[in-house]
Amino acid sequence: NQTSAQQYVQSVYETVIHRNPYESEFHQAIKEILDSLVPVFEHHPKYMEHSVLERIVEPERVVYFRVPWLDDNGKVRVNRGYRVQFNSALGPYKGGLRFHPSVNASIIKFLGFEQIFKNALTGQPIGGGKGGSDFDPKGKSDNEIMRFTQSFMTELYRYIGPDTDVPAGDIGVGAREIGYMFGQYKRIRGGNEAGVLTGKGIHYGGSLGRTEATGYGCVYFVKEMLASKGLSFEGSRVIVSGSGNVSIYAIEKAQQLGAHVVACSDSAGYVYDPDGINLETVKRLKEVERGRMSEYVNEHPEATYSEGCEGIWSIPCDIALPCATQNEIDVKMAGTLVANGVKAVGEGANMPSTLDAIDLFLGNDVLFGPAKAANAGGVAVSSLEMSQNSMRLSWTFEEVDAKLHVIMKNIYDISVAAAEKYGRPGNLLAGANTAGFIRVADAMIDQGVV
Ligand code: GLU
Repeated sequence: NQTSAQQYVQSVYETVIHRNPYESEFHQAIKEILDSLVPVFEHHPKYMEHSVLERIVEPERVVYFRVPWLDDNGKVRVNRGYRVQFNSALGPYKGGLRFHPSVNASIIKFLGFEQIFKNALTGQPIGGGKGGSDFDPKGKSDNEIMRFTQSFMTELYRYIGPDTDVPAGDIGVGAREIGYMFGQYKRIRGGNEAGVLTGKGIHYGGSLGRTEATGYGCVYFVKEMLASKGLSFEGSRVIVSGSGNVSIYAIEKAQQLGAHVVACSDSAGYVYDPDGINLETVKRLKEVERGRMSEYVNEHPEATYSEGCEGIWSIPCDIALPCATQNEIDVKMAGTLVANGVKAVGEGANMPSTLDAIDLFLGNDVLFGPAKAANAGGVAVSSLEMSQNSMRLSWTFEEVDAKLHVIMKNIYDISVAAAEKYGRPGNLLAGANTAGFIRVADAMIDQGVV
């Protein structure tokens, strides 16, 4: 049984590589989950009999499209837009849009694939999808952002809807971009379908607590991991990479829980502030001025700024929260963190650790909160936003935050239980992957050959 499960997984993996050549991020995401699933197939051959894995690794639908727009000099520019509708077994496709020059089919597929299992873990009725563009928002004027997002939506609108596919933000897509896209969708469709996008502004259907949800949720998850070993954020030294939406609210919640957050970063470099990161400054720099982290030191002379992103992981810490981007921690940086005595790693970004880095953390008894579980708070509250839109009601911040807390604790509990049940106690990566997979796989079997 063991060899046949292993052979099954291996043959599906080879098919994925064959069908999607050169898509290294997608291969990585697939490999990570397949390795976790071998014991599940040993216990439940029905998943092999129903060819669930062969089906789940193939997106239900992928679209890519031209996005032409006019820059401020009147020149025509062209980017490529993507939407992958990966799996609808549990509900409408749900997942963010990423605007970043690195975006390509591989990145959108890895993100969409992860989203299936992450969304399943939340317990909400949402399938998995992802989209975006290789458009680079950096240095663009507000008008350029508007013209680009309107053009993007002018094509995307035909594939989405409140009951089919509900995009939200990701890297490079925040409240401003969602607002412009929502406005354009409304003009094209001629009605107010609030539930077509999440992460909207508070006065037109957005949910309180959505902005904070990913960062807060990540800290709630890590809090549970720490508690299992009698540890807590109180008095701990924390490093949070990134300085976007996820990082800012991870820092905020960690600080509220008494942590000493000493570093954060952006794509150009990182700030180390021995007095503790001043979050007001980071919020103003990044949320209002859309500036760079290098400017932080102008106001905080005790802090130092260093170029490059790698160095942030050589600062000794108890807890590391990678909240920037994929593969930001490789095995070398993981080794440095372990050598410096890191106790817990909570992934706020999507796939921030390489496979070797994860193995190193797990092999050294570092508490490891995998992305699918630890950063599921954002999409969980997106689903709560959809619920409020359907009801035409809005919950208070406290209600949403309390629901988020319950969801994160539940994700922790089911991941622990699945890790235990399938013979990898304490391995939350295996636990989250199996718990998420089983929900989706059972729904697929129930729904026939789809
Ligand atoms: N982009 C976020 C994620 O990676 C949020 C997606 C959503 O809210 O739909 O989960």
